[in-house]
Amino acid sequence: MSAQQRPRPQATPLSQPFWDACERHELVAQRCSGCERFRHYPQPLCPSCFSAEFRWERLAGTGQIHSYAISHRAFHPAWDEHVPYVVATIELDEGIRMVCDMHDADPDAVEIGQKVVAEFVEMPGQGTMPRFKLVSG
Ligand code: ZN
Repeated sequence: MSAQQRPRPQATPLSQPFWDACERHELVAQRCSGCERFRHYPQPLCPSCFSAEFRWERLAGTGQIHSYAISHRAFHPAWDEHVPYVVATIELDEGIRMVCDMHDADPDAVEIGQKVVAEFVEMPGQGTMPRFKLVSG
């Protein structure tokens, strides 16, 4: 058992609105004002049209597993008691991808293409973090 806490994400002025939304249990992403594309992670310029104008928009929080890996060794002592665990790339319905370890997912139950939904979990040392869980049925 590990007494270590997970490292807290280091917010920047650019990413702070994302973390503030997580505290409100909302998943948000930047949306370009030039071409209307969503993007994640937070970036100063649109990778499609190079516009610096954007707004934050709330996302549905639904998507599917694009890819995943099962970690059998912890990269940090705070994860020691959770191995094996799933780290997945989630393709959100808005067309952007987020990487996340999947809270409480059974590694044998995870498959590419499975539907997932966002949830918000208070993680010791990290604050409110977005996680994705499998949608059953
Ligand atoms: Zn753009």
